[in-house]
Amino acid sequence: MLIDIVKSYDKDKKQFLLSIWEQVVKHLATQNDPKKIFSFLKNVWIVNIDENEQAVYVWVPNEFVMTQVKKFFGKQLKESVKEIYNPQFDTKFAVYTPFNNGGDLTTDLKKLLNLKENKKEHTIEPKIKNKLSEFFGILFDPIYSFENFVAWANNNFAFSAAKAVSENPGTAYNPLFIYWNVWLGKTHLMQSIGNKIMAEHPDKIVIYLPTSKLIDEIVDALRKNKLNNLLAKFNDIDVLLLDDVQFLSWKDKTQEIFHNIFNDFHMKKKQVILSGDRPPKELINIEPRLKSRFGLWIVVDIKSPDFETRIAILQSKLETKWEEIDYELLEVVAKYITNNVRELEWALNILITRKKLMWNTLNEQDVIAALETLGYTHSEQKIDMNKIAEWNKKSTQNFGNIVEMVGQYYNLSVSELKSDSRKKEITTTRQILMLLAKRYFGWTLEKIGDYFGGKNHASVIYAVNNVEKKLKTDNNLAHDYNVFVEWIEG
Ligand code: ADP
Ligand code: MG
Repeated sequence: MLIDIVKSYDKDKKQFLLSIWEQVVKHLATQNDPKKIFSFLKNVWIVNIDENEQAVYVWVPNEFVMTQVKKFFGKQLKESVKEIYNPQFDTKFAVYTPFNNGGDLTTDLKKLLNLKENKKEHTIEPKIKNKLSEFFGILFDPIYSFENFVAWANNNFAFSAAKAVSENPGTAYNPLFIYWNVWLGKTHLMQSIGNKIMAEHPDKIVIYLPTSKLIDEIVDALRKNKLNNLLAKFNDIDVLLLDDVQFLSWKDKTQEIFHNIFNDFHMKKKQVILSGDRPPKELINIEPRLKSRFGLWIVVDIKSPDFETRIAILQSKLETKWEEIDYELLEVVAKYITNNVRELEWALNILITRKKLMWNTLNEQDVIAALETLGYTHSEQKIDMNKIAEWNKKSTQNFGNIVEMVGQYYNLSVSELKSDSRKKEITTTRQILMLLAKRYFGWTLEKIGDYFGGKNHASVIYAVNNVEKKLKTDNNLAHDYNVFVEWIEG
């Protein structure tokens, strides 16, 4: 076992491992904020270098830290080790229970990174932080940052507000309410705020929750009679990010409980960041009192990106993916897809895959074919701007999008919806989707059956009839159905 190996190291070996680690950290510091490095890597170090396996083993104290380190520094660590030590060597993570704090293998990161003492750092119990993150799940994705969010005239204000909040959480702009249509970057911006606060204020407990998760937690706590436990958890949070609050609609009990949580945060000057698909006062079936709290401080919105911005977004995505595609081809994509950033990204992913399959050559035909798979169909092989406008309209109505959005709404994955699962919530949602496909997309029963995992004609008829009946008696379902129709009709 590794720990025993460490015991057998002589002084030189320890010194050697330590110096490699220090160089790796310094290398990381050329690309990252030192505070971020400190908050994620302070309990991490190189424990062994195995020449036979060509592996550098990085020691992490527990699974939780490992997930965080992998997420936030995994790729960079691997690259730095290759750069500093040996390009042939891979980086592996080893989890062991603490042993003499690493002893001679650890370095004083603060000194190494020239960080000043931060008194606050010691005020938070790391245990609480870990427990909370474990409880709510680590829902931050480090891919989302201010650096790779493209700001343009229409979203500049939102972008600056988000930055201001991340710099001084709790003091200015509390709450911050961000609203946009779907797929225009709300989650990206929110998560950028969270990632930034975590990096700048390692002492703060930052929690991101999709509203569906909050609802689940509250329902669960009520059922188990453990609401107080849940509320106590919120007590320890410093910054709360709640995404897609429109889903609180009709959930009266959740609204009431969240109202209390919200007031408490507000009173204690703890930052709350909310997002929704429309401005607070237009939210449907949400308590007016709560809506007015949401709009209390700053509400920022955004419109769809213009052509130049769409190109810039495509380029920024390519950069994060370390890929290259000719500018002219990006132009074609940006001309077709006008109001949906997620689809820009999907198109890009398809192109990247195609490029790899095509020995790195891509032409306009490939781009058009890729766009066709996203529902931008046309018969001629040249681009006609009128047609493009029409396709754009169709694309927002693309059934695949609706399936994904409805899935997100109920917290179900597309593959679950297409599966044979007979779980009630999945069956009902699937039936609703089948009805939408029939009524709003003009799909034949065969096509619907095929789409949902090869179901036969009879079972599609049954499903559609069944859900039509349910819609007449189940108000909640009818409400949801209307929301979906609204999405489709735009
Ligand atoms: P929303 O939460 O509004 O539905 P997301 O934040 O999930 O939208 O955005 C959808 C996709 O588009 C994500 O991959 C996101 O990174 C990307 N995206 C949206 N807006 C921008 C932007 N301004 N710059 C770069 N990427 C963006
Ligand atoms: Mg979102």
